[in-house]
Amino acid sequence: MKTLNDFNFENKKALIRVDFNVPLNENFEVTDATRIVSAKPTIIKILEDGGSCILMSHLGRPKGVQDEFSLKHIAGKVADILGVEVNFVDQCVGEKAETAATNLQPGQVLLLENLRFHKEETAGNVAFAKQLSNLGDIYVNDAFGTAHRAHASTTIVAQFFQDKKCFGNLLAQEIESIGKVMKTGEKPVLAVLGGAKVSSKITIIENILDKVDHLIIGGGMAFTFIKAQGGKIGNSICEDDKKELALDILKQAKEKNVQVHIPVDVIAADDFSNDANTQVLDINKIPDGWEGVDAGPKSRLHFHDVVMDSKTILWNGPLGVFEMESFSGGTIALGNSIAEATKNGAFSLVGGGDSVAAVKQFGFEDKVSYVSTGGGAMLESLEGKTLPGIAAILE
Ligand code: AMP
Repeated sequence: MKTLNDFNFENKKALIRVDFNVPLNENFEVTDATRIVSAKPTIIKILEDGGSCILMSHLGRPKGVQDEFSLKHIAGKVADILGVEVNFVDQCVGEKAETAATNLQPGQVLLLENLRFHKEETAGNVAFAKQLSNLGDIYVNDAFGTAHRAHASTTIVAQFFQDKKCFGNLLAQEIESIGKVMKTGEKPVLAVLGGAKVSSKITIIENILDKVDHLIIGGGMAFTFIKAQGGKIGNSICEDDKKELALDILKQAKEKNVQVHIPVDVIAADDFSNDANTQVLDINKIPDGWEGVDAGPKSRLHFHDVVMDSKTILWNGPLGVFEMESFSGGTIALGNSIAEATKNGAFSLVGGGDSVAAVKQFGFEDKVSYVSTGGGAMLESLEGKTLPGIAAILE
C-alpha cells in the first residue's frame, strides 16, 4: 500500500483528491470545517517536502455550473486552516486550469473549481480524467468519503499515474482502522450494530459474522429479532418481512460461535416524542400503545461488561432514538463504556452515519481510537466490498 512516505515531493506537483464537501450557511460560510482540517496533514507534508498541491473536490450536487456550489466560497477557509495562501482557479480542467497548475511553485497551493460542474466527473469519464491528470505529477487520493464511487477524480484518474499514485494520510488511516477491525484486530472482537433497520445493515451483519466474537444488536433493529422469536414488541419499529432473515442470522451466528447480545429491557414510550410518558419494560413484553425507544438499564449494564471484555470494538448505529434527549441514555452509556475500554487499551472504531453524529454530539470523539470520515464508504467497507477509489491506487 503506497502512502505519502513512499515519495519525495520536492519540486513535484501533487494532484490531490480531497473531500471538501463541507456544509455552508446562507452567507456561504463554512459551518463545519472537519473535512478541511482532516486533509491538512497530507497537504502540509507535501509542502514541507518542497512540493506543491493542486486540490480537487466536489461540493454539493450542482446541476452544471451553479455559483452557489463554487469552491471559491471555501478558498479563504482552506487558507486559514492550512496557514498558507490558496490560489483559486475557476476551472478544474482545460487551458486556464493547466496554466495555473504550470505556474504553481513549490510551497504553493492551488484549489480547482468544483469537479461536479462537469457531468463527466460522476460519469467516470476517461477523457475528463485524462485532462485532470495533466495537472499534476503524482496523484494522491485523500478522500475517503467518495472512495466508494468510481468517479473520474476518485478512481479513473489513477490509471494515468501508473506507479506515481498513493493514499493520503487520511485515507491511509481509514484503511488501517478498518483493517484493524476486519483483519488484524486483537480478540475478542466486538461489533455493535444499532440504528433503525435490519434491512440497511443486513449485508454488514452477514459479512461481520466471520470476523467477530461478540455482536450487539441494538436500536430499532432489535425488535425484528425479538418479534421473530415470539416476543411482544407493542408499537416498536419492526420489519416483518425480515423476521425469517433475523432467525437465520441468529442461526448463522451460533454456527460461527459468535455470541449475540440483544437488549433484554427497553425504555418504552407511549408516543414518539421527547415528552412522552416512559417506563422500563422487558423487551419481549411491550404492550400495544408503547414502543421501545432506547436500551434499558439491565441491557446497558450487560453491554458494558461485553464492551469491557473486548479488545477490538466497532460501533455503527445508535442504541436508541438519540436525537431526543429522553431516549439518548442508552447510546451515551454505550459511548461511555467504549471510551473506558479504549482507555484500558482496546482499539475502537466508530463509523458510518448516525453513530458518528452521536459520538460528536456527546463528546466521545477524542475518547475512541478512530472516528471514520466516510458514511457510505465506511458502510461499504464493513460490507466487505472493495472500494473502487482504493482499488485504483493499489492496482
Ligand atoms: P441508522 O442510520 O440505520 O444507523 O439509524 C439511525 C436511526 O435509528 C436514528 O435516527 C435513531 O433515531 C434510530 N433509532 C434507533 N433506535 C430506534 C428505535 N428503538 N426506534 C426507532 N428508531 C430508532
